[in-house]
Amino acid sequence: MKIINLEKDIFIYHFEIGKFSLNIFVIQHKDTCTIIETAFEKQFSQVIEDLEKKGLKIIRVIGTHFHPDHIHGLPLVKDVEIIGSIHSEETLKYFFKNYHKYLPNKLVEDDLTFNFGRHTFNIELCQGHSISGLLITLNSKYLFVGDELVYENNGDSVIPICFERGPDVMIDSINKIMSIIDSKVIVPTHGLPIYDKEFINKDLHNRLAYLKYLSKKRTATYEDFVKDTNITFRWGDGDVSWGDSYWHLYNQIGDLKWVGEHGFKASQ
Ligand SMILES: [Zn+2]
Repeated sequence: MKIINLEKDIFIYHFEIGKFSLNIFVIQHKDTCTIIETAFEKQFSQVIEDLEKKGLKIIRVIGTHFHPDHIHGLPLVKDVEIIGSIHSEETLKYFFKNYHKYLPNKLVEDDLTFNFGRHTFNIELCQGHSISGLLITLNSKYLFVGDELVYENNGDSVIPICFERGPDVMIDSINKIMSIIDSKVIVPTHGLPIYDKEFINKDLHNRLAYLKYLSKKRTATYEDFVKDTNITFRWGDGDVSWGDSYWHLYNQIGDLKWVGEHGFKASQ
């Protein structure tokens, strides 16, 4: 675990797992903090311990979406505000039998804006990766994109992961990100913050190209896509270090129920 300071009161607990990473974000106001993402219990317990040492009390947790690698740590905190999409339950039911443990207590139906000390949060639905997805803008400067955009630790782009609802919904979410990005810093939950405008513009266009290709040619293979467009992503051809995930195949299906039954399955 390492701690990356974006600003003196905004920091990231960054956990590397091979080429991949999990981030937990802390936004501080005096001796309280708002957390974005909990990762798994294993990571969140370390963050809780460190925050306790620093005398910081967690008063709020926001999940960018309710997949296990983002909210599994939630039961470790009690009596805090938990902000999540109104669709969180739908996602949770696919992953957890005991999904009630992970439900948010403040639901975002459309969008939500609130202040926390000097910080301003703007939250809106963004459902390309998950039906329960949220896009979070902090202080008009940082854009927390959850898994709408995923990167390896060296900055390589991971293939768009749109297995819950297919490519067309993710095209909308990439367009939404493009429309509000301005000069904001992209903060993914997997990977490191991205300040390079040229890189992110190209990356967003590559993602759109993939999603539009997949939308038109649902049966085309990842290899077909690379041959036709010269664009490549990490994890497109099964080069993923965990399990036997093959994200392009999952994207072709575009149905979380199928994936839950046949492939990607979280514990519990
Ligand atoms: Zn994730």
